Amino acid sequence: MRRLVYLKAVILFLVLCCYSSVAWALNSVSNIRTGQQNDGIRIVFDGTEKFQYDAFLLGNPNRLVIDLKNTAIKGNPKVPANAIIRDFRIGELSGGKGKRLVFELKGNADIKRKFALEPQAGKSNWRLVIDLVRHPDTAAPKAASAAKAVATYKPNPKRQKIVVLDPGHGGKDPGAIGRSFRTYEKNITLSMGKELKKQLESRGFKVFMTRSTDIFIPLRQRVRIARNYHADLFISLHADSTVNRNAQGLSIYTLSETASDKEAAALAERENKADIIDGMDFSDNSPEINDVLISLSQNDSRNKSSKFAAYVVNEMKKQVKIQNNTHRFAGFAVLKAPDIPSVLVELGYVSNYTEEKYLRDPSYRKKLGAAITRSVVSYFADPEIASSL
Ligand SMILES: [Zn+2]
Repeated sequence: MRRLVYLKAVILFLVLCCYSSVAWALNSVSNIRTGQQNDGIRIVFDGTEKFQYDAFLLGNPNRLVIDLKNTAIKGNPKVPANAIIRDFRIGELSGGKGKRLVFELKGNADIKRKFALEPQAGKSNWRLVIDLVRHPDTAAPKAASAAKAVATYKPNPKRQKIVVLDPGHGGKDPGAIGRSFRTYEKNITLSMGKELKKQLESRGFKVFMTRSTDIFIPLRQRVRIARNYHADLFISLHADSTVNRNAQGLSIYTLSETASDKEAAALAERENKADIIDGMDFSDNSPEINDVLISLSQNDSRNKSSKFAAYVVNEMKKQVKIQNNTHRFAGFAVLKAPDIPSVLVELGYVSNYTEEKYLRDPSYRKKLGAAITRSVVSYFADPEIASSL
């Protein structure tokens, strides 16, 4: 009898061990969301652990199946029908330790991309991203439809390239204020934007501006404007100020989660404050923007942004004084467009007497504009860029 009690205790102990080890590894998925993309839809899952998954398509009827191993699903998530998905259900994965998610599809579709992401800085959630696109032609034979798809995506070198210029600040947000002449950054950036627009248009680019008058626009809206215009390149224009009156020179920034140095971080903080002026919390990014931040296309845009930055540095050093480590990285809100190569140019320091005087001078801005225009031309002529557009 005593021995039996002992045995029961051992069994209970083993069972508890088993359960707790399962509980440790379990990925708890709390959120499933879908978003419309240009050519299809994106499905994003948030989980507490690294995703162990399989994603594949089945026919008759068309379904997307996602097997999530070692996973529990919190609540009863719904996936509303959209352009591709008709219905959604969750079942148990055979073997018991996971879930099978079945998305009934409206027609034939392809998995364009699938990838899992580590938690972003300051966040704890892992992510799984699946991009679905509608199959180009369900009826055509395989080879023919593949050829057709290639034809559809063939880059059109003749398409006019679209550049969106973003004169920083505006309206109630003056930006930096000059030490010697009280020049407002918002006025310099707008004049520079107009000059650059003129020059780029004369080289055959289609140019839009986030603002062409003295108005306040929140940072997120600037990003949205660039996306709405389907920009191929986004250039945000600024002028900096610092306590060191001797500081001089132009610098160019591209996006990074971590700034390349303290100064760059402080600058990003100053520039991002524009939204706080408007009483908006910048940290409260819309889910759409957060999602795109993590997407792979961002990596691609970052590489392109860096490439463009290199061209600008190359042209600028022939023309004007530039900072030593001119191309730097920082977390500017305005550079967070997911799929658009984006740079932020600090045209110079309005805290420096000479540079403030220069930036007020239309002929100096013309010179800067010419250098940026040449960089834009070189960038789009770059074989790597040209082949990806
Ligand atoms: Zn600024």
